[in-house]
Amino acid sequence: MKFNTALIFLFSGIILLLSEKNNFGSKPLYKTLSYLIIFIGTFTLAEHLGLSIVSIDNLIIPDELTAKNPGRMSPATAICSILIGVGFLAGLSTEKNTNNVGLYAIKFTAIISLIAIISYILLIPLSSKSSFYKSMAIHTSGLFLLISTLQLFNNPNSSFHQIVNEDYEGSKLTRKILPVIILFPILSSFILILAINQEVISTEFGLVAYAAVFIPLSIIYVSYIAVSLNKSEKERRKLAKELEESNKYYLKRFQQGVDQVSLIGTLDTNLNFTYVNDLFCEVLKYNKDEILNKNISILRSGHHNVEFYTDLWKKVESGEIWVDEIKNKAKDGSYHWTLTAIIPFKNEKGEIFEYMSLSQNITDRKTAEESKGEYLKKLEYKNKELEQFAYVASHDLQEPLRTVNNFTELLAKRRTDYFDELGLKSLQFIQDATSRMSELIKNLLDYNRLDKDNILTKIDCNQLVKDVKKDLSMNIKDAEATIIYNNLPILLGYETPLRLLFQNLINNAIKFRKKDTKPIIEINAKLNGDEWLFSIQDNGIGITTKYKDKIFVIFQRLHNKNEYEGSGIGLAHCRKIVDLHQGQIWVDSIDDEGSTFYFTIKIKEHD
Ligand code: ADP
Repeated sequence: MKFNTALIFLFSGIILLLSEKNNFGSKPLYKTLSYLIIFIGTFTLAEHLGLSIVSIDNLIIPDELTAKNPGRMSPATAICSILIGVGFLAGLSTEKNTNNVGLYAIKFTAIISLIAIISYILLIPLSSKSSFYKSMAIHTSGLFLLISTLQLFNNPNSSFHQIVNEDYEGSKLTRKILPVIILFPILSSFILILAINQEVISTEFGLVAYAAVFIPLSIIYVSYIAVSLNKSEKERRKLAKELEESNKYYLKRFQQGVDQVSLIGTLDTNLNFTYVNDLFCEVLKYNKDEILNKNISILRSGHHNVEFYTDLWKKVESGEIWVDEIKNKAKDGSYHWTLTAIIPFKNEKGEIFEYMSLSQNITDRKTAEESKGEYLKKLEYKNKELEQFAYVASHDLQEPLRTVNNFTELLAKRRTDYFDELGLKSLQFIQDATSRMSELIKNLLDYNRLDKDNILTKIDCNQLVKDVKKDLSMNIKDAEATIIYNNLPILLGYETPLRLLFQNLINNAIKFRKKDTKPIIEINAKLNGDEWLFSIQDNGIGITTKYKDKIFVIFQRLHNKNEYEGSGIGLAHCRKIVDLHQGQIWVDSIDDEGSTFYFTIKIKEHD
């Protein structure tokens, strides 16, 4: 191999390494080497044509061994060099046409080198030296074939690369057949020429024998390929059929399922029905014939305004899916709510050619919601009425009560001579009863006013309990009660009601103490998710389990007045206050051992 030829292969090798995985690494180096290959090829060709410009043959290393044209590579090698260099350069381009020129150059190189190899092999028996192709050494043509094949594989745009590499039957066939159709004629021709040359057989016999062997062998090979192709094709068709059947099966099942729960209709671009399913007809009371080709507007109920429909179709016509609840009118005039999706379908050009409406009947839910809303409104109204009534009643009742009280007082003071002892006692009873009633009415008024005009404020519960203790100091002192509390939270709440809450619970804990036991009351609080959980524990008389809920109802008491003072409104107050703070209140108690009242206060955002 001539020095310049070796140089071309060295450069080509480097270029192939640089272009591995399409990462062209150092592009300037890749380009320089490609240009050098073209340069060497071109100037060698010029030498062959008698144009000695740079004496490329011995430019780097002088050839002292070759007699004729020392150092010069053959014309075929020079042409292949130019082609492969062009192929490398064009491979860099992102332009398709340039890329294709490169691919052609590489393919030419492959063809020239392949012909050179074949003619070399076949001309050995003839020992001829006159061929253009044979002017390229066998190893040179081998290397050119290798480089051009690698380059073809490297270039993903090359059809050769695609044909050979793909996973289709054609590519598999190519991979199988290609080596055979290249190697078989070369080998058999080689043997044939050798045999003719050695005069083992005559030329005529050789040609007949070649045809006689080539045809049946080709038939056998083609049959073998055909059988294996048929087998895989059969397999493929079987699988395709199975797939189609299972697709059909699932599609049918899916459709059956959807048909049972959804109202389905399709519309053309004029919004006329082209298809409706049975459930659609059942709910909207139309026969298929009556609704097909009718415009969707016949379902309008009058519930939605014009903008609703304009927005709906604007969205759908822009290619988006519209989903919302819609009230429709059936043929018999009844109304039905559906949760509907309207889906536009587009053709390949992106134009809408059909709409599908897919709906769930939600009439029951909507009716329930509507009546719930009405009930709520009614309830709210009644509540207001009741509040008003309670306020007016309790407020106005105070007046006559005061009069009765004043006059009995007057009678008792000024007209003592009118009454005997029983009469005076009776007057006293009337006075007691009226003041109790007045107290009850006052409580009722307080209860009624509780959730009005409250403002959320930051409250330190430690301070709050401290203040309550101060307010109840007489009671605490009398009962010799101990109140323990530590690390109570600072929270956002309604101050006056909260104070009343603690006051009622602490007061009850002192009031419902056991005769011979000094009250010990412990107040604790802990964080429980998004709320504070408070507990107020006492060692009092306890509450029988069956009354645990009753005690929170207004005016419900478990003891009469002689045993324990009170009106039965305190815990009802407590419940209302806890409600106001979105919490709950309950009690745990063991009879004769003590009670623990729990309540929760929802943590507000700014806590
Ligand atoms: P009042 O204290 O005016 O009777 P409440 O509504 O505060 O009204 O309480 C209702 C009833 O619950 C009380 O009459 C009492 O029987 C019971 N009760 C409340 N707190 C306690 C407590 N700490 N220990 C035992 N019983 C209690």
